Amino acid sequence: KKNRRPLVLANWKMNMQPEDVAPYLDVILPEVEKDEDADVAVAGQNLYLAQMVQQSKGSRLAIAAQDAHWEDKGAFTGETSPKALKAIGVSYVMIGHFERRKLFNETDERVNLKTKAALKNGLKPIVDLDEDLSAYDGQALDQVELGQLKKALDGISEEEMQNVAIAYEPTWAIGSGEAASAEQAEQSAALIRASLANLYNQDLADQTRILYGGSVNTDNAASFFKQEDIDGILVGKAALNPQTFLDLIDIAQ
Ligand code: PEP
Repeated sequence: KKNRRPLVLANWKMNMQPEDVAPYLDVILPEVEKDEDADVAVAGQNLYLAQMVQQSKGSRLAIAAQDAHWEDKGAFTGETSPKALKAIGVSYVMIGHFERRKLFNETDERVNLKTKAALKNGLKPIVDLDEDLSAYDGQALDQVELGQLKKALDGISEEEMQNVAIAYEPTWAIGSGEAASAEQAEQSAALIRASLANLYNQDLADQTRILYGGSVNTDNAASFFKQEDIDGILVGKAALNPQTFLDLIDIAQ
């Protein structure tokens, strides 16, 4: 896979109570230390992030935010500053998750602004695409140009792209218990990689990590990692159990 490091991301969404956070990390931290062949990140609610950073300090576990605003500061009640996230030690930020797009009117334009702001602040964006890319099967790539991908990355330089990962999540697979088949997911990941080569160049496309998300579990995870263009997984429900998340990290190695 052209030396791309696997990335395993747990998305807690709006789950976990305060008393659940430390015990979860207690379970995974010692094991993450042993698994040196994959990058591992956990995305918690904002109010837990500082605590998560503290508890995982000095470890290989990275902490992720689930969203961040495009401005560093200002009159944006309820929003989260990417600059502040970086300052407290957060590493990754998810941008444009399907639930943000569907439930909170996240537009392609905002995804683009947020991705740029994250990069400017030294955060690593994981840009989520939720289009059903397989619907484009048979169409010429330059006709499609994978709308969300192109819009999300507008104005982002090749150098900045070194810190960007793409997550492909078919809408119908998120939280549904019905994952895409490994072949379907690979087809879309390959399409995304080809589109990156079109937008930038083949080298950059070969370096960019592409994750699959949507009802990943311990039964199907290995089939995704076997695919040439899938470099990681974004896991919601199955990652709420720390032991299951550890099993998924093991599968990534
Ligand atoms: C997600 O949160 O993006 C996700 C893929 O959730 P689940 O694994 O529960 O489908």
